[in-house]
Amino acid sequence: MTALANRHPIGDEFLLDYAAGTAPEPIALVVATHAALNPQSRETLSRLEAAGGAMLSGLSPASVSAASLDRVLARLETQEATPLPTRPPVADALLPPALRAHVPKGIEALPWRRRAGGLAEAELPCGDGKRYKVSLLRIGAGRSIPRHSHRGEEMLLVLDGGFSDEHGHYVRGDVCFADAAVEHHPVADADGDCLCLAVTEGPIRIKGPLGFLLRPFLRR
Ligand code: ZN
Repeated sequence: MTALANRHPIGDEFLLDYAAGTAPEPIALVVATHAALNPQSRETLSRLEAAGGAMLSGLSPASVSAASLDRVLARLETQEATPLPTRPPVADALLPPALRAHVPKGIEALPWRRRAGGLAEAELPCGDGKRYKVSLLRIGAGRSIPRHSHRGEEMLLVLDGGFSDEHGHYVRGDVCFADAAVEHHPVADADGDCLCLAVTEGPIRIKGPLGFLLRPFLRR
């Protein structure tokens, strides 16, 4: 299948939250990583940030809450502090800087946990420990995440390879968004493993009689 860029951008509402500095950290990570890989979203984001900057400059200092200013400054500091190795290992070159900062020792050094069905998952320490879980997810070539529904929001951002579900085909940079209204069955492309950044809000519900075997998967 031909990979077409920009087919599945992240929703504008998430770009807006990010530009305003109000996105929770796990969502901000997805937005920053996606924007690095998707020119269309990057352009929208820079327009929103320019508009936000213009609005901020028109406000009196007292109208900007200390908390929101802190968030903006903290993000700038994080961006400035992002390590940029001159020659990252090949696999780690798949990770845009915002994500690489959370994988300092490389993808293979992460605490990967093998799951049934050709899945492996490595949790990243940047989840908030309560609302969101953040992980890298590797789906073997031609294998799948079991059919499931969701208790909250889920974002799967493709970093390498691709997968399909009932709603489309997703390749590097694409975001598959699902919420409590969505049930789906993501299947990796047959020609190679699919690596995703996954942010999930609450555990997913595996469908089918063997669901209990996979229940630990994607559970906080
Ligand atoms: Zn899902």
